[in-house]
Amino acid sequence: MTISWFGNSSRTFGRGVHPPEHKEQTAGLPIRRLPFPPLLIVPLSQHTGAPAVPIVRERQEVVRGEPIARAGGFVSVPMHAPATGVIDRIAPAPSVKGDLALAIFLKPYPSASQEILYGAPRDIEKMSPDELIQAVQDTGVVGLGGAAFPTHVKLKPPEGRRIDAVIVNGCECEPYLTTDHRVMAEQPAEVIHGARIVMKALGAERTIIGVEDNKPDAIAALERAVQGFDAITVQRVQARYPQGAEKILIQVLLDRQVPSGGLPADVGAAVFNVATLAQLGELLPRRQGLIERVVTITGPGVDKPGNYMAALGTPLRWALEQAAIRHDASSVILGGPMMGPAVASLDVPLTKGVTGVLVFSREDKQASRVYPCIRCAACVAACPLHLNPSRLGLLALKERYEEMELDFHLKDCFECGCCSYVCPSRIPLVQYFRLAKQVNRERKGKTDAGRGA
Ligand code: SF4
Ligand code: SF4
Repeated sequence: MTISWFGNSSRTFGRGVHPPEHKEQTAGLPIRRLPFPPLLIVPLSQHTGAPAVPIVRERQEVVRGEPIARAGGFVSVPMHAPATGVIDRIAPAPSVKGDLALAIFLKPYPSASQEILYGAPRDIEKMSPDELIQAVQDTGVVGLGGAAFPTHVKLKPPEGRRIDAVIVNGCECEPYLTTDHRVMAEQPAEVIHGARIVMKALGAERTIIGVEDNKPDAIAALERAVQGFDAITVQRVQARYPQGAEKILIQVLLDRQVPSGGLPADVGAAVFNVATLAQLGELLPRRQGLIERVVTITGPGVDKPGNYMAALGTPLRWALEQAAIRHDASSVILGGPMMGPAVASLDVPLTKGVTGVLVFSREDKQASRVYPCIRCAACVAACPLHLNPSRLGLLALKERYEEMELDFHLKDCFECGCCSYVCPSRIPLVQYFRLAKQVNRERKGKTDAGRGA
């Protein structure tokens, strides 16, 4: 991967794309709180790993912030009540994946103050790394940049690996999204506090916060907040997609290359999103749990775009009504347009991994006719991992999925969508790659089961 310096302060990587940013609708809008809906739907699996296990029963009253489900294992996190109210039921609910998943339904009390009474202060300076890791799990915090990977798991690197550098992702390179931008501009002290917590838990010596240069107010706020913390620096990077991808940001900020199939820990790094650290910095010293998050709701299909603080479990339909969804809205995407999935139902709830909701109207719908590959190599030039999307696409059409993995590094593809974006033939390459990975996973599962039988 090529790294470039621009002037004396802005660096970036050599490939990728720079799509129109479309951030102007919401970038300058302060975070506003969404009202509580009449019913919250809190899925037990809002994260990577084992689902949480309910510790409440139907008709039980709960206060805002109280634990309502415990972690289902080490790679899992607890859930906390997003509002003071009563448990209505524990039952399957529609999920973003299109299936049904168990959730706790909670009716907020309309007359409750919704003050967070749960929790007690504690001094993180007196806590050992192991106590900090347990405390991070207790907050229920997961990667809020979209991955939803439990944060405490990243604080326990594999045996024999030592983390010397913490990388903080403040790039927010997906078009339209401004969640992280507002968090950095409005909660810089919490971001720094969160960085100090993870540095202490990991025994890391330094932290670099990478922020794209299209967010000057966020950079200025962080530079002010970082005064007095010599081990933490703010690094301006040039706006380019997908700069926020873990492996790319490590290369850009540390000049270290994560090996194919490897982890950031293999090169002594751990990567955290800014919103994740802001929540840790706020919640952990108060012994509180994650009950809400900032979500950008935007796009031509809403009349009141904004950066909204939403209680976890807020139904998408309710959130979109508050943002004045237009009658001609046609498609709704969770996250940004490059990587976010389209939702099939507005009955799904907003969960820990939802960074944004993007609403298009009918007139934005582009022609979707697909043409044959003209071998222009635009996709090859755009792939930040130096894969060959054109070749992978041709193999996918022939259903030679195993060959894609064995000979063309399909597993390294992190589905950034750059190849599909630049393809003049509108070939949905990234969709082909998702399908190929799924088929390979299923085949491997059958083989493993056959061996075990
Ligand atoms: S989706 Fe995969 S193949 Fe396409 S550009 Fe991104 S990493 Fe490369
Ligand atoms: S960008 Fe599209 S048309 Fe060009 S080589 Fe890649 S797959 Fe073929």
